[in-house]
Amino acid sequence: MTAHRPTRLAVVGHPIGHSRSPRIHAAFAEQLGLDVDYQAVLAPLDGFARTVERLRHEGFAGCNVTLPFKPEALAVATQASARATLAGAANTLGFEGDTVWADNTDGVGLVYDLVAARFPLAGKRVLMLGAGGACAGAMAPLIEAGPAEIRVFNRSADKATALVERHRALAQRHGVNLKTLGSLDSGAVYDGVINGTSAALGGTALALPRGLLKPGGWAVDMVYGAAAQPFLDWAAAEGAQGRDGLGMLVQQAAEAFSLWLGQRPDPVPVLAALRAELSP
Ligand code: NDP
Repeated sequence: MTAHRPTRLAVVGHPIGHSRSPRIHAAFAEQLGLDVDYQAVLAPLDGFARTVERLRHEGFAGCNVTLPFKPEALAVATQASARATLAGAANTLGFEGDTVWADNTDGVGLVYDLVAARFPLAGKRVLMLGAGGACAGAMAPLIEAGPAEIRVFNRSADKATALVERHRALAQRHGVNLKTLGSLDSGAVYDGVINGTSAALGGTALALPRGLLKPGGWAVDMVYGAAAQPFLDWAAAEGAQGRDGLGMLVQQAAEAFSLWLGQRPDPVPVLAALRAELSP
């Protein structure tokens, strides 16, 4: 008789000590009664591919990937989903025989969280702030949710242009008017604003003008914790409903978990527990 072994999974990043993923995946496994061993793994900055090879040889079923390795995760894969290819980055790898498959669950995580929060997307005007890896991951699932319009504003305009260009055909297929925005002071008003910048993590909150959001609109920051507060304060001053990135974090994890294990956990109680733990 073969001894039972847990499914081994990991999150790989540099740094990695801050990651909530082991906590979240342990809660999912407990909820579904599955035996999962999910570890945080620090990869050297020049040793991501080596680390992935080691995990494969040690019998891991896959790993999540976080900063700064998401583009490299796509590069090491032998197969990639359409959404990871469009994003140019992967946050989930699976190991099956000689195959290393890559996916990007950040974007669907965001969209599922918007749905859970009852923040409408279909037919709406949406402003995305930022054009880094997280925004790239979010773009395809956002387009597929069918907003009327998406505008992308980024400090470095060339990155916003590249992001829009990469998604132009998908946007056309879904009838979404996708363009870059040169200035936030154009007078345009949005139903929803997504902050996908890391500005607040660097200690400089984004300076956003008033009047960007329709009254009763919504605003989501991908960041969570204290760093999200300036954006949430701005949203409240706009008369909008605000939400931080904790829901997105749990939802992207639930999607990755179901890709590896074929069972979808309920993110709601896990999010509630995490929020209670993190509240001051
Ligand atoms: P990247 O480094 O790839 O991109 C950072 C983005 O923030 C770029 O658009 C960058 O602009 C912009 N930015 C950084 N500093 C400033 C500033 N001072 N003023 C204006 N813009 C600025 O990071 P990611 O895209 O991977 O992550 C973005 C954020 O999303 C992070 O805070 C991350 O923690 C969060 N995140 C949350 C997830 C979740 O599940 N909740 C999942 C993934 C990410 P420029 O191009 O000009 O440099």
